Amino acid sequence: MAVKSMQDLLIEELRDVYSAEKQLAKALPKLAKAASNESLKQAFQTHTEETNSQIERLGQVFEKLDTRTRGKTCHAMEGLIDEAREILEMNLPPEMLDAALIGAAQKAEHYEIASYGTLHAYAVAIGNQEVADILESILNEEKATDQKLNDIAINEVNKKAIQAAA
Ligand code: FE
Ligand code: FE
Ligand code: FE
Repeated sequence: MAVKSMQDLLIEELRDVYSAEKQLAKALPKLAKAASNESLKQAFQTHTEETNSQIERLGQVFEKLDTRTRGKTCHAMEGLIDEAREILEMNLPPEMLDAALIGAAQKAEHYEIASYGTLHAYAVAIGNQEVADILESILNEEKATDQKLNDIAINEVNKKAIQAAA
């Protein structure tokens, strides 16, 4: 697509994040399965459901912009998911694996936070408040997930990983 306006740029970036979300929707259940800590497993499951709902809401955004819902491969998310796969192949003890999974997941969440922050700013700039509101609601979910993972790491997982490695 020839990008000639800020709305075109918004749509291009929406296609990227749509692809990123689709990839995450597939990867998160694998992280949930690999996690041993119950809070972490639960967090990955909850965020899988949130991610599926985000994919639907992105569909509404495309509709509001009179554009077909379509992704464009997000190579950054492919790379981040590859790195998560490498962690799964490291044969770490369960407590350390949990710590490493949190790290991998937070990298993905931070990518999403950067993406939705930009997308929200574009929607505000072109004066599409409806779209801006949807993007902000997704942005807040990504931030909350990042924070939840932080809390699980600090309050539970990292301490257990230290004990297990000792
Ligand atoms: Fe997401
Ligand atoms: Fe991307
Ligand atoms: Fe997310």
